[in-house]
Amino acid sequence: MSVLIFIDAADGHVKKSSFEALTYGAQLAKQLGTGAEAVLLGNVADDVAALGKYGVTKIHQLSNEALSHVDAQVYAKAIADVATAIGATVIVLSHNLTGKAVAPRLSVRLKAGLVAGAVGLPDTNTGFNVKKAVFSGKAFAHISVNTPVKILSISPNSFQTIAGEGTAEVVSTAITVDASKIKITATNKVTGEVLLSDAELVVSAGRGLKGPENWGMIEELAKLLGAATACSRPVADSHWRPHHEHVGQTGGSIAPNLYIAIGISGAIQHLAGVNRSKVIVVINKDPEAPFFKAADYGIVGDAFDVVPKMITEIKKLKGVA
Ligand SMILES: Cc1cc2nc3c(=O)[nH]c(=O)nc-3n(C[C@H](O)[C@H](O)[C@H](O)COP(=O)(O)OP(=O)(O)OC[C@H]3O[C@@H](n4cnc5c(N)ncnc54)[C@H](O)[C@@H]3O)c2cc1C
Repeated sequence: MSVLIFIDAADGHVKKSSFEALTYGAQLAKQLGTGAEAVLLGNVADDVAALGKYGVTKIHQLSNEALSHVDAQVYAKAIADVATAIGATVIVLSHNLTGKAVAPRLSVRLKAGLVAGAVGLPDTNTGFNVKKAVFSGKAFAHISVNTPVKILSISPNSFQTIAGEGTAEVVSTAITVDASKIKITATNKVTGEVLLSDAELVVSAGRGLKGPENWGMIEELAKLLGAATACSRPVADSHWRPHHEHVGQTGGSIAPNLYIAIGISGAIQHLAGVNRSKVIVVINKDPEAPFFKAADYGIVGDAFDVVPKMITEIKKLKGVA
């Protein structure tokens, strides 16, 4: 019996969300009185053994050319094989794009109950009860998992990462992989931009910006902060911005450390995609805008006045012209 954590990586680096999953898995193992091991698919430039500081003792690093890109079927099979080999009873993943694609497949393979989007450690006093947000974050459900093997995907920013001391034993294994049923014909990578789904800082704007021609200052602010850009749904529907930037109930769901909302009213459907952000800053000229109720910091003012001033001040702080 042990807890197995999936370490998600992209472009040769372990993703930040994996540190959270590792901490969560290690704490869960402690709670269950068992060990915590992890599985990493493919090679990374990072120091893998150093991930032991999050509480795992052993990391199974599997290598095969097919693992260099995300193929949920291949990933699920590889993780399931490790889980079976070590007799894992709980498998922990991040509830990000990879986790959302892999966890259900793992669940079917291992006949394991899955809680997608857990927001805290399970209550294991009587059974195995996991809390997750439902109805766009308006309520919580407590799911009781009764299968021998259990799978949990952790909502980003729902658990504090704790780094201690120590290194993990890394066991490297070359594996064979069945021919993929998916054929990648082209990969279009956006370069020079921060990927919205993984961004720690997001600058987002809405209909208050009046038109696509005014996004220059939003992009400039985002670039200065090293942030990704996002938008409200009407903005994407009006083709002012590309659809992949649309966040909310019907768009992307994000959980950055900082979300700056500019000229966005804060409708419940928008909040559903961003309310897990650690800190929310709202800039709106209407003091009654609903977004202020969800904000940690609010600036009542005209975006066309406030944003250029922010840009000037950040430039001064950074010492750039
Ligand atoms: C089923 C359903 C699903 C939906 N899904 C989504 C979703 O996923 N994501 C989403 O975003 N919406 C979604 N919506 C739409 C949502 O209800 C809102 O209509 C939308 O979020 C409003 O976008 P907005 O805040 O940009 O625009 P508006 O509601 O028009 O708000 C603009 C805001 O800008 C402010 N403003 C205006 N000028 C300035 C200025 N110069 N400076 C500063 N502030 C200014 C105004 O005070 C106002 O608060 C959905 C709706 C439905 C019915």
